Amino acid sequence: MPRFMADHMVGKTCKWMRIMGYDTLYPQCKTDTEILKRCIEEDRILLTRDYEFYRRYSKSIFLDSPDFKLQIKQIAGMFPPKRNLFFSRCPMCNSLLEGINSDVMPPEFSAVKLRFSTVKYCKYCNKYYWNGTHYLKILLEIDSILKG
Ligand SMILES: [Zn+2]
Repeated sequence: MPRFMADHMVGKTCKWMRIMGYDTLYPQCKTDTEILKRCIEEDRILLTRDYEFYRRYSKSIFLDSPDFKLQIKQIAGMFPPKRNLFFSRCPMCNSLLEGINSDVMPPEFSAVKLRFSTVKYCKYCNKYYWNGTHYLKILLEIDSILKG
């Protein structure tokens, strides 16, 4: 699976791509030239809505629609998502999540600990993720995006 770089205009798409397991960076206050430099260094595909920017780099994809759902559909059409990678990355920072025993969660998560023996953890964001109702809603949303 190739790696991706979102530009500033497609932040929401970037977050959803991470949820679906695509390695996708989001630029932190960088100029277009800095973004392209990183794409070349790390062999990343640039995702952009800016036609001029798109034309500056051969490995870029021009996203046709302003709607993030249609953008994801366009990308998934070229690079079909792998279901086993869903929820493997932190939506906030793109890092791979670690599976951990829920026993190590702080006391405020006691309800989660009772329901789930393992959860996923991002050590960079210090955030926990588990397969609760939110998770099912996201899965349904992904299905509707891919079929829609
Ligand atoms: Zn994170």
